[in-house]
Amino acid sequence: MYFDPRPKTSREDLFDREEEVERIKALRAPITLVLGLRRAGKSSVILVAASEMPHPVVYIDARRFEAEPYLTFKHVAEALGEALAQPMRRFPKLREYLKNVNGISVAGFEVKISWRERGSLVEVLEWLNRWAEENGRKAVVVIDEAQELTKLKGYNLLKLLAYSYDNLRNVYYVMSGSKMGLLKKFLKLEDAGSPLYGRYMEVVELRPFTLEEAKRFLEEGCRQYGVPPPDAEKVYRAVGGLPGWLTYFGYTYVSVRDEEESIRQTVSYAVDLIKQEFAHFLEGKWAAEKRYRVIMEAAAECAAWSELKRAVEASEGRRINDAEITRLLKNLVDYGFLEKRGDLYCPPDPLIAAAFRK
Ligand code: ADP
Ligand code: MG
Repeated sequence: MYFDPRPKTSREDLFDREEEVERIKALRAPITLVLGLRRAGKSSVILVAASEMPHPVVYIDARRFEAEPYLTFKHVAEALGEALAQPMRRFPKLREYLKNVNGISVAGFEVKISWRERGSLVEVLEWLNRWAEENGRKAVVVIDEAQELTKLKGYNLLKLLAYSYDNLRNVYYVMSGSKMGLLKKFLKLEDAGSPLYGRYMEVVELRPFTLEEAKRFLEEGCRQYGVPPPDAEKVYRAVGGLPGWLTYFGYTYVSVRDEEESIRQTVSYAVDLIKQEFAHFLEGKWAAEKRYRVIMEAAAECAAWSELKRAVEASEGRRINDAEITRLLKNLVDYGFLEKRGDLYCPPDPLIAAAFRK
């Protein structure tokens, strides 16, 4: 059912995105990046691709770390241990391989990786690689919302990834991130001194649905419930093309069967959530908090760089230097709160605009 609000896990529930799923399944490069705004459908597309791969998939949802101020090796070891249960169930012989890792305990399908053994992560990957090699398969490690791992301290994950990229020929990574900027920052792709610098990565980008796609999505979704479809143009104008919000609308609409009411509920829910995400983004940025808010409010209907600078200056009653404004805007773009359209900075979808409109 298209309107099921959870991330989709099977093809029949996923609208379109055929090409994206195929590209993930193809594993054309050791690392595939899946990019798109929050609720663009990254987790869904990855889970559907994973369900169709003939390979063990180790799926780590890094969103579990969202609320943590910082991460240690222990967090990662724990998450990886848990994520190994599913591939071991599917490929029971994998157990025997993983038992060789120092600092690992395997009981049934439960894996515990000791956080005292710093070498255990590499070893897990090496044994996954060996299993894959000897069984004519690949081992796939998914890190969903990988930018959360930026908070990892005292362990160099990028070095591990680079080592794996170069040496473990049967281990593949699929990493998703809300926005290229953030993921690039985490992977340090543009930093010549970084371990991953210059390595090719396959990029799969998930765009919001166009009006045409949104229309078909709503029509076909409503048909699955035997409910007449709403006026898609009106819905699209209010909630935009992100599959997550269209799904939320559809889910509400098939139960309340009132277009206006469903739009109202979707907008109100989305605005609350976007405000929460923005508050989360502002945590620890105490000095710039007010500036970010002023910018978002001034950009709600799109604005040029100079207008935004003026807005911040007006709110503080003093001059602000250009580099500071540019830095604030880059952060907002990296986190997906704004996007650049020609010379203008705009909210990437109508719900973000609604969250900041005064
Ligand atoms: P992301 O991981 O990018 O934040 P999700 O995969 O969690 O996005 O999707 C957000 C919501 O939208 C979920 O309810 C999911 O079921 C729905 N969804 C996303 N893409 C599609 C699609 N192509 N077809 C049907 N539902 C989708
Ligand atoms: Mg997701």
